[in-house]
Amino acid sequence: MKTKYVFVTGGVLSSLGKGLSAAAIGAVMEARGLRVINVKMDPYLNVDPGTMSPYQHGEVFVTEDGAETDLDLGHYERFVTRPLHQRNSFTAGKVYLNVIDRERKGDYLGSTVQVIPHVTDEIKRMMELATGKLNGRVDLAIIEIGGTVGDIESLPFIEAIRQMRADKGQENVLYIHVTLVPYIRAAGELKTKPTQHSVKELLSVGIQPDILLCRSERPIPSELRQKIANFCNVGKDDVISAHDVDNIYKLPLVFHEQGLDMRILQRLGGSWGVQAPQLDRWQDYVDRSENPPHTVRVAVVGKYVHLTDTYKSLNEALTHGGIDNASRVELKYVDSEELDASNVAKHLAGVDAVLIPGGFGNRGTEGKIHAIRFAREHQVPFFGICLGMQLAVVEFLRNIGGLADANSSEFANTANPVIHLMDSQTGVTSKGGTMRLGAYPCNLTEGTTARRIYGKAEISERHRHRYEVNPRYHSVLEDHGMRISGRSPDGKLVEMIELPGHPYFVACQFHPEFKSRPLAPHPLFCAFLRAALERQVASDRSRPRPEVTA
Ligand code: GLN
Repeated sequence: MKTKYVFVTGGVLSSLGKGLSAAAIGAVMEARGLRVINVKMDPYLNVDPGTMSPYQHGEVFVTEDGAETDLDLGHYERFVTRPLHQRNSFTAGKVYLNVIDRERKGDYLGSTVQVIPHVTDEIKRMMELATGKLNGRVDLAIIEIGGTVGDIESLPFIEAIRQMRADKGQENVLYIHVTLVPYIRAAGELKTKPTQHSVKELLSVGIQPDILLCRSERPIPSELRQKIANFCNVGKDDVISAHDVDNIYKLPLVFHEQGLDMRILQRLGGSWGVQAPQLDRWQDYVDRSENPPHTVRVAVVGKYVHLTDTYKSLNEALTHGGIDNASRVELKYVDSEELDASNVAKHLAGVDAVLIPGGFGNRGTEGKIHAIRFAREHQVPFFGICLGMQLAVVEFLRNIGGLADANSSEFANTANPVIHLMDSQTGVTSKGGTMRLGAYPCNLTEGTTARRIYGKAEISERHRHRYEVNPRYHSVLEDHGMRISGRSPDGKLVEMIELPGHPYFVACQFHPEFKSRPLAPHPLFCAFLRAALERQVASDRSRPRPEVTA
């Protein structure tokens, strides 16, 4: 059976949650028994987001095969079970690079190379790669176009998807446009004009949307949906009220309640996808996240703490692990640049656990080291990820190993570079896609906490780093009581460490957050939040209780 396509465009403004919508549509359609794949096309000129600042672009999500991609791929993987690859996300930069490479090779010899047809054909070729045979059976491809309709740079992408309807057949292509219906407080009204204008913009480039997903602060009443339908040339049932939800994992349920999956099926015809949607696992997750009995407080000590998009997958993984422990996770973001020995106790007072996420560059590292020392000495559950693990090694060797000048060679020239550049990275100067990226196997040491948590000896996790624990210090670490609980199969790279005797002190060189799913929470996050909850329960018990008077 042929693949069918849903194209998701955005209008009015960015940050409407288009990626989340595309992901949640994927989840409902998958619940209907379809094989779904999500794809992202980004109109910017970076070849991939690997070199972009998290300040501007949020998290860089890493796939199994080591692509540094947009954070929307994280949403896709959390909502739809199929793991994504390098080819499932591409940018205008990549498209132009391919076209120009081919022009230089002489592939277009004689012709004038133009946006239409050469760039648009390349976009279509890359869409084919992203959804074609290599991906196994695909019933439905949901392809999101980054940016907003009307942007100059997105035009070639819009033109390419416009052509797809003619190429693939009317019954195989559907356009969903995500717009905004703002609520104007002073007037007490929801306004439809921006949506009308944005649909007009899309019409001017030849696309009549089939379904409008209207983002709004509050549910859009029936008469307003009718009004939008009239002005925008769609049926009233094709105007979906995508109002704000307090929990993103409700989206598949909200979309289903509004009949979105049914509309997509009807529009795309055919006999597929008729299975009633199996949404019980989503419902169960949502039920468990409503008013869980416990709340745990986790300090996330990092550099980009004021921007939650920077740690998107991390935040989600913490939420998943919390729900697994019947707990809501309250995050306290601590700016590591503000931490020093004198104020660390104050900043971390009242938290049940401390997490140090991945990061790059020297700024704020000493503050993170103070936080690690505090957690180690005060028996506070600690979880270090990537840079968080490297700094845990530095802290330990400085304060327990007696190497006062221990540091990472990423940050200082020192006689004790306990973290140093991996052999494979020496001589690498180019910045894009050159780190140790993607999934690598790791062997867990018998008798360790890590081995118990995973319940198996061999694991595979995703990486994104250039530095490693310097092999010269492996035995120094172990001699002083730190356990190397995970190593690369050749034994050379430290992948996990832990501190025996501490209630929970676990760190890893990889990024487990990329593999946590609401319906399959990651064991390391579950175990970390369990430790946080246990600490809270224990400290509540030790707190003096008010006297009970008759
Ligand atoms: N900067 C460190 C390295 O490159 C850590 C990277 C990370 O935390 N993702 O090894």
